[in-house]
Amino acid sequence: MNAELIAVGTEMLLGQIVNTNAAYLARTLAHLGIGSRYQQVVGDNQKRLDGAITVAEKRSDIIVLMGGLGPTPDDLTKQTLAAHLGRELVTDANHHDKLVAMAKRKQQALTPNNLVQAMLPSGATPLTNHNGLAVGAFMEDGGHRYVLLPGPPREFKMMVDKELVPLLAGQQQQVLASETMHFFGLGESALVTEIGDIIAEQGNPTVAPYIGDYEVELRLTARADNDEDAQAMIAPMRTGILQRIGQYYYGSGDKTLAAHVVHALEDAGATITAAESLTAGAFQSALGSVAGASNVLNGGFVTYAPSAKEQLVGVDADVIASDGVVSAATAQAMATGAQRTLGADIGVGLTGVAGPDGLEGHPAGTVWIGLAVGDHVTATEFHFQGSRNDVRGRAVKSALLMVLQ
Ligand code: ATP
Ligand code: MG
Repeated sequence: MNAELIAVGTEMLLGQIVNTNAAYLARTLAHLGIGSRYQQVVGDNQKRLDGAITVAEKRSDIIVLMGGLGPTPDDLTKQTLAAHLGRELVTDANHHDKLVAMAKRKQQALTPNNLVQAMLPSGATPLTNHNGLAVGAFMEDGGHRYVLLPGPPREFKMMVDKELVPLLAGQQQQVLASETMHFFGLGESALVTEIGDIIAEQGNPTVAPYIGDYEVELRLTARADNDEDAQAMIAPMRTGILQRIGQYYYGSGDKTLAAHVVHALEDAGATITAAESLTAGAFQSALGSVAGASNVLNGGFVTYAPSAKEQLVGVDADVIASDGVVSAATAQAMATGAQRTLGADIGVGLTGVAGPDGLEGHPAGTVWIGLAVGDHVTATEFHFQGSRNDVRGRAVKSALLMVLQ
């Protein structure tokens, strides 16, 4: 079984927006074992869209139309598909109720073009729009399957994940199980070197790498008759991957690295503080972005200038004079100074050269991170690549990982 994705929208032809919906859906369908052989992009034009559907019918089983379900005159997708298949448009009661409720809330009259958003070709299965008003649709006709999905990515993704995937998986009488593994500290090319063969030889389960903010995610997905079997298929692949790159792994699921740290500290009943130079508060901000941070983050310091390191957290001027600002000794003194000043269990000190210029003879990207846990104090040196903000971003995540370990 294969699919053809047709994105509808003149903005895409003009290069004003990128067709991210197609990438998302193609990836998702691949996990279901449904390949995509062709993709099309068509403008908001009934005749050309009809032509695109005709072309797709000659070579593909599932035809997915994305975008153009809205209330404006350029939204023609479902009208075009209905006419193409010789079907009427009929109203879906649930989405109609949603439109009525929304109009009442906004104290607006419902216009006929608004009501079209609750309509779908007769005989089609409605796909609920959890983030908007325009109903989606799924139908079978003449040996093909047709899918209508809304354009706005928030609506689109939700409908794909919550409506389309279960429906297609159910038709294959299979369930999908997936796990997203998070890694920090290895780049994309290192990833390919380490597990390139696993990626190349994948079948079921599939493994898809995504590159995030200085992180790599691997999404493992298995198809099986039931959840237990699917989970059991993921397990050995997971183990194989951890054998190769386990030292970079920090967790699975939706949790961010900062959330892992906050939750681990909560579990341990421990408090944390930091003195930050090059990151200027970004480490604390990362912790602060997690609900529950107030249980673990006492407060902390931005100690940019040497004088601030001395005044705010009591770093000894002699240490800076003898070892320099970018040094193990200063990072450790910042960590212990912050820890002592606020009476926290854990203190972190971040000092380094964000760039673009070097400092004290150290090239941009040189970073020392000090960690004081109780009275055990360490410091680790890093050499990060990239722009000023890349160096700062990597420093924050490295510090989070040091705390987690
Ligand atoms: P609306 O009710 O907002 O009009 P719609 O279903 O009619 O939704 P479109 O009018 O085609 O969808 O697109 C709405 C917006 O969604 C576009 O302006 C664009 O920002 C985004 N969008 C549409 N198609 C895509 C796509 N294939 N990839 C990424 N974004 C898209
Ligand atoms: Mg629209």
